[in-house]
Amino acid sequence: MAIYAAPLQRLIDELGKLPTIGPKTAQRLAFYMLSMSQADAQALADAILEAKRLIRHCSVCGNITDVDPCAICASDRRDHGVICVVEDPRDIAAMERTREFAGVYHVLQGAISPLDGVGPDDLRIAELLRRVESDGIREIIVATNPRVEGEATALYLSRVLKPLGVRVTRIAHGLPVGGDLEYADEVTLARALEGRREL
Ligand code: ZN
Repeated sequence: MAIYAAPLQRLIDELGKLPTIGPKTAQRLAFYMLSMSQADAQALADAILEAKRLIRHCSVCGNITDVDPCAICASDRRDHGVICVVEDPRDIAAMERTREFAGVYHVLQGAISPLDGVGPDDLRIAELLRRVESDGIREIIVATNPRVEGEATALYLSRVLKPLGVRVTRIAHGLPVGGDLEYADEVTLARALEGRREL
């Protein structure tokens, strides 16, 4: 026998599918949502659906955006000759918070990980090579996460990019090994950017 009325159980089940939300939290959130005003509940539901409807990937850099190309790719105040390569769109937000980088980005959508069956062809590396060949790029800053997969990806990128005659650098200093770019504080990340080295 179900403990909760079917519509409430459905809400708990849906919330329980979210990352980091266990059964107890799903239950607590569901009860909280029941106590919300109709307007607040509607606003939450609308925000989810609207984000799903409007957010897509930038056709140039792979950032998440509601306009294509994204605001960074479309900006004439950014240096389009320097591309910072990151694993995930969330890393762009982290880099932007440092206010130290005025170039543009390229999102790989992951990192090379043979154990997980992720090879170079599964990432947006071909797109990056096309940008480098066509856009007059002077420098590629590899800002993949400082862990095994990120380092392997950085080495691979340096190998395929160098023959194209572009400068390839790697952010290095201060980032904890095994850490996530996304969670690095702005100062650490800004230092890492300053202290980048040739790859
Ligand atoms: Zn873009």
